Amino acid sequence: KRINIAIDGPAGAGKSTVAKMVAEEISFIYVDTGAMYRALTWYALQNDCNVDDEPGLVNLLKKTDIQLINQGGVLHIYLNKQDVTEEIRSSEVTGQVSYVAKHGEIRKEMVAKQQQLALAGGTVMDGRDIGTAVLPHAELKIFLTATVEERATRRHEELVSKGIKSDYLSLKKQIAQRDKLDSEREVAPLKKASDAIEIDSTSMTINEVVEAINALIDK
Ligand code: C5P
Repeated sequence: KRINIAIDGPAGAGKSTVAKMVAEEISFIYVDTGAMYRALTWYALQNDCNVDDEPGLVNLLKKTDIQLINQGGVLHIYLNKQDVTEEIRSSEVTGQVSYVAKHGEIRKEMVAKQQQLALAGGTVMDGRDIGTAVLPHAELKIFLTATVEERATRRHEELVSKGIKSDYLSLKKQIAQRDKLDSEREVAPLKKASDAIEIDSTSMTINEVVEAINALIDK
């Protein structure tokens, strides 16, 4: 059986970029668990379901089919067959997703879906609770961090390079706020698993992080 690789860490640490590259190199499947929470959040906003309404969200999730499909190297997110890849990255979804993700019943459903995807092995899964809750027996666990200043700077530069207006200080505040909500929630908070290997990417390039993980896989 092929292994599973868990990559957790705070918002904007580069988890998805790195996970995607690692997966591609070894022909594993990349599973973006944050996209699943984002998709449900988008759907809740569409349906005027309050993010504090746990039974309402559970109901909505029951009617929701979320698919992650790799199309030509790009991971597309489908909700009930609709491509919501772009929509789930909106600032509105980003601002609300942590409130959706804190509900125990929602997490239970999401975790079951994620475990299903990893049953046969051969996945690189990124999120907040992969090493601690989703795949506690993952053969390799990475906890990827960077200072909040560095994470905000990267995000800021990414937006600016795309011609999108961005304000560094409010970005930094949003990232710190999301980390706080994700770390302080009761169910499966953002936390380094005791057997995870921490990589601080603050002064590393993306390629250096990928190489560091590849070296751990080869060990
Ligand atoms: O990784 P990404 O930033 O897209 O995740 C969006 C949000 O989804 C996180 O801030 C967190 O609230 C939630 N999440 C989670 N558990 C995961 C992945 C994401 O609670 N495994």
